[in-house]
Amino acid sequence: MTSSTQLAVIGGGPGGYAAAFLGADLGMQVTLIDEAPNPGGVCLYRGCMPSKALLHVAKVVTEAREASACGVTFAEPTIDIDRLRFWKQQVVSRLTGGLRQLSTQRGVTYLQGRAELLGPSSVRVTILDGTTTDLEFAHGVLATGSRPAIPSALRLESDRVWDSTRALEVPEVPESLLVVGGGYIGLELGSVYAALGSKVTVVEMTPGLLPGVDRDLVTVVARRMESTCEAILLETTVTNLAEEGTGVRVTLEGPSISESIRQFDRVLVAVGRIPNSEIPGLERTRVRLSEFRFVEVDRQRRTAEPSIFAIGDLVGEPMLAHKASHEARAAVESIAGRKTVFEPAAIPAVVFTDPEVAWCGLTETEARAQGRTIQVARFPWAASGRALTLDRPQGVTKLIIDPDTERLLGTGLAGSGAGELIAEAVVAIEMGATVSDLRLCIHPHPTMSETVMESAEVFFGQSTHVYRPKRG
Ligand SMILES: Cc1cc2nc3c(=O)[nH]c(=O)nc-3n(C[C@H](O)[C@H](O)[C@H](O)COP(=O)(O)OP(=O)(O)OC[C@H]3O[C@@H](n4cnc5c(N)ncnc54)[C@H](O)[C@@H]3O)c2cc1C
Repeated sequence: MTSSTQLAVIGGGPGGYAAAFLGADLGMQVTLIDEAPNPGGVCLYRGCMPSKALLHVAKVVTEAREASACGVTFAEPTIDIDRLRFWKQQVVSRLTGGLRQLSTQRGVTYLQGRAELLGPSSVRVTILDGTTTDLEFAHGVLATGSRPAIPSALRLESDRVWDSTRALEVPEVPESLLVVGGGYIGLELGSVYAALGSKVTVVEMTPGLLPGVDRDLVTVVARRMESTCEAILLETTVTNLAEEGTGVRVTLEGPSISESIRQFDRVLVAVGRIPNSEIPGLERTRVRLSEFRFVEVDRQRRTAEPSIFAIGDLVGEPMLAHKASHEARAAVESIAGRKTVFEPAAIPAVVFTDPEVAWCGLTETEARAQGRTIQVARFPWAASGRALTLDRPQGVTKLIIDPDTERLLGTGLAGSGAGELIAEAVVAIEMGATVSDLRLCIHPHPTMSETVMESAEVFFGQSTHVYRPKRG
């Protein structure tokens, strides 16, 4: 059976469904294709949302344990794992079901199946029961996302070795868990299991957790992880995994490793993600891949095949849901004939550990690598009244400023709730705000948002709650 559509979107994650919905809002006839029963992609089914649901549980458990410092003592929390799983699953079902409803309301045709490109303007969808539907399209958007990367040394066909998808299912709470990879996924999931009661060891190949992130921000979360984890092994590589007894025998290599063979009940491999660019039939188009197998796109997200656009994890870093959905906007507006480009000045990134780490725009690390002159204004959270009332004085807010124009170039935050605070900095950077603008905007008291304003005051040597005269 062959039918036609104006816009065919392959992949129903935050890139794909945002593209499909906007296409419909702009009056296009749209078909959205994904293998899952409902739209949602990795983000909703096995990424952002289930991980944040579990991190919420981890936070509740941790806060209950730590409330005694403020004079409230709870009994040690008991974890009902079936109920926890059910609750997390309900969150996912509500969200993905809601997206299906939104598709229907917008008149988007949702096809549950696997897509294969037949050429630059047609796709074959193999539905679950094996039947196929061929679809002609005027424009296509590829949004097939990414999957966990598993290096060959860590490949072991065993239910004791998990990737992030398996870890999010919470098959059990192991007595001991080795997390391979100190990036955001490893730290988020490691924190969850540590809070649930596992003895968590994190192994990271580079000299620090969260490679690439400014060290002063990482220090805040690293200190906390050091106290909640069994061990954090830096500059350490896992070279082999083998089943042994009821667990996994792990071979470790690194300058500070005294015991190179260790035993863990379960191992979580979280060493990165690779794009799903092996889309069947892609070779029948002119779509090109980069050296790292991302689909190459221009500023509108058009591929080398003029009728086909690509967005999200498939086209490169940062592999984040909000980047995907904003690329969707650029692609679909361009398809609709509008003048548009995807050129953000600030894409926020948040590590949802407790405390959180968040940044946007230029980082200090990037500025130094580029040899760019910047000025950094820092406000320690220990000087924030709100942080003390929350019993969370561990944190920092810092602004990266162009000393000539006094424009805000970037912002870094570490501390409880940093992920919400970063949005103010994104708006400021995108609006071309100067550090004076931040200083002069009245922030509500007592809130953590005041730390953004006070960092700006630090720049001028006039922070009310920090005495630090302006240098030079
Ligand atoms: C554990 C974890 C936590 C995360 N937390 C966050 C977070 O807090 N914040 C954040 O911004 N990002 C987070 N991410 C990243 C985020 O999930 C991704 O950046 C986002 O999902 C990418 O969206 P996408 O639209 O590019 O593709 P995806 O969400 O990957 O969706 C792609 C979809 O395409 C489908 N597909 C692939 N090939 C075909 C085909 N041939 N036919 C039909 N369908 C196909 C796939 O099955 C999938 O459903 C997290 C990821 C993980 C793994």
